[in-house]
Amino acid sequence: MKLVFATHNDHKFKEVQQLLPTTIELLSLKDIECFDEIPETGDTLEENAKIKADFVTQTYGLDCFSDDTGLLVDAVNGAPGVYSARYAGEQKNAEDNMTKLLAELEGKNNRAAHFKTVVHLNLKGESFTFNGIVEGQITTEQHGEGGFGYDPIFKPDGYDKTFGELPPATKNAISHRGRATQKLVGFLKKKAT
Ligand code: IMP
Repeated sequence: MKLVFATHNDHKFKEVQQLLPTTIELLSLKDIECFDEIPETGDTLEENAKIKADFVTQTYGLDCFSDDTGLLVDAVNGAPGVYSARYAGEQKNAEDNMTKLLAELEGKNNRAAHFKTVVHLNLKGESFTFNGIVEGQITTEQHGEGGFGYDPIFKPDGYDKTFGELPPATKNAISHRGRATQKLVGFLKKKAT
């Protein structure tokens, strides 16, 4: 089965590819020669995931899934949420985003947060969504160089290391995207039988 993962993010692509069975040939946007920046104009993660998958399915006629992720921090009313990528500005810079969030949380005791991923799948004319959540805490400074985005300042519950420090396999097993993707994979395996 050929399936496009509508992302330009190589880190995400590799994370998801590791979770999929080899019977699924995962194609990137580069593989299908889609170099467009697909606009994320929705007000929710669900809308943005749908917009991205629909763009590929409608433009290229291919089965496709996409994901949209947000980091929701309790002490700032669920910010940055759907605006996680551009929290500190249109440059979409991870370092700037982390600096801004740490400044917002300075002196705050409640550092609870969760990542949420929504996956939208278009398959043979039907569409499906899958969610994944991981709860954790925002640290007071960056730890680790692994992963991407907000990983160096997010410590998942039950671990004393950030996603930036944990091995990729550990992150994949418990992360928001890992959990949403595991649901997607379970679904695709059933469909393939
Ligand atoms: P999107 O799903 O690519 O739109 O991600 C939105 C924002 O969340 C971006 O700033 C990403 O860097 C960040 N993000 C998405 N997934 C992760 C993750 O697994 N760890 C840390 N940050 C992430």
